Amino acid sequence: ALMITDDCINCDVCEPECPNQAISMGAEFYEIDHRKCTECVGHFDEPQCVQVCPVACIPINPAHVESKDQLWGKYRQLMGLD
Ligand code: SF4
Ligand code: SF4
Repeated sequence: ALMITDDCINCDVCEPECPNQAISMGAEFYEIDHRKCTECVGHFDEPQCVQVCPVACIPINPAHVESKDQLWGKYRQLMGLD
């Protein structure tokens, strides 16, 4: 999963781009629900939030590093395919 750092300027452009509705406004800046973020695996070749973020504040979440296989499994689970 990816995460949003405190460099976020709350510009709102990433939220509607997420195919998993993983992004929402948090207490101070936007947040990614790691349970819903597949790094866009299953939907797009590149993480859409990273593509649109103007300040490059969306790195890998070090507490939730996942392999491509794990991300595919998460996608299937979220989509109700398993
Ligand atoms: Fe959503 Fe994709 Fe960004 Fe994860 S990487 S938060 S799934 S847009
Ligand atoms: Fe924050 Fe980047 Fe999302 Fe804008 S696109 S709200 S700066 S994380």
